[in-house]
Amino acid sequence: MFDYDAEFVDAVFDYCRERLSLDPVPLDFGALIEIAPEKMAGLIRPEGRSPEALLEFFRDTLAPSVVSIDSPGFLAFIPNAPTKNSLLFDMVVACSGLNGTSWLESSGVVVAENQALTYLADLAGMPSGSGGAFVSGGSIGNLSSLTVGRDVGRAKRPQLNPREVRFAISDDAHSSIGKALHVLDVQPLVVATDDHRFTRAALESALEADPHRDNVIGVVATAGTTNAGIVDDLEGLGSFARENDLWFHVDGAYGAAALFSNTHRHLFAGIRHADSYIVDPHKWLFAPLDCCALIYRDPTVARKVLAQQASYLDVLHEGTDEHYDWNPSDFGIHLSRRARGLPFWFSLVSNGTAAYESAVQCAIDLAQRTEVLINECDYLEMVRPASLSIVLFRRKGWNAERYNQWSRELLASQVAFVTPTKWEDETVGRIAFLHPNSTEEMVREIIDSLGD
Ligand SMILES: *Cc1c(COP(=O)(O)O)cnc(C)c1O
Repeated sequence: MFDYDAEFVDAVFDYCRERLSLDPVPLDFGALIEIAPEKMAGLIRPEGRSPEALLEFFRDTLAPSVVSIDSPGFLAFIPNAPTKNSLLFDMVVACSGLNGTSWLESSGVVVAENQALTYLADLAGMPSGSGGAFVSGGSIGNLSSLTVGRDVGRAKRPQLNPREVRFAISDDAHSSIGKALHVLDVQPLVVATDDHRFTRAALESALEADPHRDNVIGVVATAGTTNAGIVDDLEGLGSFARENDLWFHVDGAYGAAALFSNTHRHLFAGIRHADSYIVDPHKWLFAPLDCCALIYRDPTVARKVLAQQASYLDVLHEGTDEHYDWNPSDFGIHLSRRARGLPFWFSLVSNGTAAYESAVQCAIDLAQRTEVLINECDYLEMVRPASLSIVLFRRKGWNAERYNQWSRELLASQVAFVTPTKWEDETVGRIAFLHPNSTEEMVREIIDSLGD
């Protein structure tokens, strides 16, 4: 199984070439097409099977039951629109035997990944020396950051019971923040907000009202909520955190990509106060899954908390070269890691940053044009103004069941994949733009499909 099989290599490259040339990538069907258990039964057995036949089985039977996240019609959750160069370079990474764990093994990987991380840090106005690593996703980025923030907060406040330290978060923080705090056994101070935007004023009044405010050691802000695209008061929260020596974490998994938008960049200026910040290139920065940029203001602090110590790893930390202990493994809760930042780096360098600016802007502009179309339609209304690339709308007279039925029918017709969400306990429609090839034409079809 380690021999080179020229024929099968050709078959795989042909398959990949075909996928890369699809324009547009079709949506396909996800769970709308069930896979009968008999089809999978007994595939794994002592003797192997023809890889050509298995590739065909994948193409014809499994792949259609996946909604292609890179189709311009994928407008649910947060889509993903990897550039051709990022996909191609992901194949290069896959075939190159790269372990992105340490400087010792892979300095050529780390140098390039760090160049991309530094670009993202500079764009957000973080000081020079900021850095971190690419981790698998925002959830792990948040967990890693909050682990560091918790330990730093405990160390700064030895008078507190370490089990009682808390982070202030908003009601609208992403579910992965709650999950991270659960893993860390840290309680949140959940701050109620006005119109779902976490502000300095809201934080100050929540702290004032809380008899245990002294055990709040950090603040988590969201730079673009996933449900509605709302950017918290990063400047206010960040300056408050600085003044009060609190850890400031900014979750920009989805929205911080709008740092590339000339019209919206100013909303993110407060990230410059962050002790840790994340953005997912696998969301709005056009890289393939799975890729989150995790950046610390002071990476040496993160290393102290997160580096794994083991005798067989000592060699990773014992070099004399000044970069020698820059190991991506030290900045997250992982050890081994694929060089998942490289496809993003390759695409950013080869396409240039101006291409990123216009691609990010496309989604924001289409969200705004969609708002106009919805306002012109008598059976629809906006729930709130479009924010970043997200549109929340109401189909007058519909209940949850009707939205779900419409969503399934829309996917079955292969027009688009759009799923409902909840807004203040009401089921509403939600469109998340991201792919630069999503069109106004497509939006008109979606709007038509919502009529009678
Ligand atoms: C998507 C998202 C996450 C989680 O990121 P994953 O990459 O899915 O783990 C966290 N926070 C926000 C704001 C997100 O949009």
